[in-house]
Amino acid sequence: MEAQDVQEDLSHVLLSTEEVQATIAELAAKVDEDYAGKNPLIVAVLKGAIMVVADLTRAMSSHVDVDFMAVSSYGSGTKSSGVVRIVKDLDTDLTGRHVLIVEDIIDSGLTLSWLKANLESRNPASVEICTFLRKPDAMKVDIDVKYVGRDIPNEFVVGYGLDYAEKYRNLDCVGTLAPHVYS
Ligand code: 5GP
Ligand code: MG
Ligand code: MG
Repeated sequence: MEAQDVQEDLSHVLLSTEEVQATIAELAAKVDEDYAGKNPLIVAVLKGAIMVVADLTRAMSSHVDVDFMAVSSYGSGTKSSGVVRIVKDLDTDLTGRHVLIVEDIIDSGLTLSWLKANLESRNPASVEICTFLRKPDAMKVDIDVKYVGRDIPNEFVVGYGLDYAEKYRNLDCVGTLAPHVYS
């Protein structure tokens, strides 16, 4: 498969490469300002947040530590249930740390709501959330998301870390899949 074939599976580009990078730059500027001198621990949620964390941290000028967590949410089909299992835990002790959870997208918000509470129980100095994308359903849960890149419509999107059956994470834009991909 050639690189351009991946792009051809999109029916609609929601965020172009330039828009993705402009969004990251805006997020990085805010995070950088708020966390200056605090040496935050960036917690990236695998696998979707890999692109966001790579670009966000490189756009920042202050010192940061980075760690990774993998969780799996039990749910039917594409909806998460809020019942979460830790697949890979952090290597870092959170005591006294300023923690910033970095996510690709918040849909129902159930996974993140569980994750935030879990990390808050580990005696950190603070826990905040930074998400690249957010869908309207996320507004229904009581979860305080301090940094939001873009609010998007309630559509299934891929690219820039977001997958469909593990594909399309390597797109540098974000879009919706063409119908021929599903059939
Ligand atoms: P939530 O618990 O917020 O409903 O689930 C969030 C997770 O579901 C995200 O981290 C992501 O892995 C997945 N997800 C939610 N919406 C989308 C989407 O539009 N596209 C893709 N590829 N994954 C999504
Ligand atoms: Mg995610
Ligand atoms: Mg996925």
